[in-house]
Amino acid sequence: MARSIKTNTDSKVANKTASEICTSCGRPSRRQFCGASLKGKTKIQWTGRTWNPVVGCSKCSKGCEHCYAMWQAFRCEAMGISQYQGLTVIQGGTPKWTGVVRLVEHKLEEPIHWRKPQMIFVNSMSDLFHEHLSDADIIRVAEVMHRANWHVFQVLTKRSERMRDLLNSKLQFCARDPHIWWGVSVENRKSGLPRIENLRSADVAVRFLSIEPLLECLGALDLSGIHWVIVGGESGHGARPFDLQWARSIIGQCREQHVPCFVKQIGRRPVDGSIPIAHSDPKGGDPQEWPEDLRLREFPESTELAG
Ligand code: SF4
Repeated sequence: MARSIKTNTDSKVANKTASEICTSCGRPSRRQFCGASLKGKTKIQWTGRTWNPVVGCSKCSKGCEHCYAMWQAFRCEAMGISQYQGLTVIQGGTPKWTGVVRLVEHKLEEPIHWRKPQMIFVNSMSDLFHEHLSDADIIRVAEVMHRANWHVFQVLTKRSERMRDLLNSKLQFCARDPHIWWGVSVENRKSGLPRIENLRSADVAVRFLSIEPLLECLGALDLSGIHWVIVGGESGHGARPFDLQWARSIIGQCREQHVPCFVKQIGRRPVDGSIPIAHSDPKGGDPQEWPEDLRLREFPESTELAG
């Protein structure tokens, strides 16, 4: 990893109105979907770019309810992009995942050719540990990450049991690579807390939590063995409320347990207790519009140490 790795924490689009922002990548655009994220560009503030060697998914928990990738896959298919064909189907007037998950051969080796060190979010359009992807294909993706050790790879899953089992067996060759960060999504206690336990049971170098979209107070968290926490509220149509008190509880526990914390966004429907919070950025992603105690965007120390 290198000191010069770039992320997107300095978003310049936060003050644009909704109609000026691409619904897919967050970039200013006259169109609703500008297509920039298909080239790996992203405005996800905690990463530098996306890489999608696997596409397709299916919903597995409450955090998936308004899956952004599903809508994007639908748009990509409509644009005629080959790897997205057959991933979604229209049911009841909206797209639904079909459950087709595929490895995209022509994307697989991309990071090897990106010579500039970058922080890379792996599979924003899928879940690497989806049950319809073979162990052999997961290993091929991991081999590329293992080789491209000048980057930082951020792997995020909701299928934490399979991730744990593979990292402790067939993926041992890369599990302890410090440039590969393994993470789980946590949206509520029922689905999220067991995922944290599974992640902790994986013998890896770097573990992180993406607590987004946070749907309820998580209560007391054991953050031992966790190196980074991201927290955020839901954005987009139909977003569920995000109570700033839930985020404050997580920030406080990160402080107590010495874990860096990155507050990504307060979402479309933030409340403070029962009081709605006004903001102009549709995702609630502009820290200038947040209460001061929430303006926290830290990264794991290893981001700085690598070179
Ligand atoms: S795991 Fe992620 S990509 Fe898959 S359905 Fe859920 S939110 Fe969407």
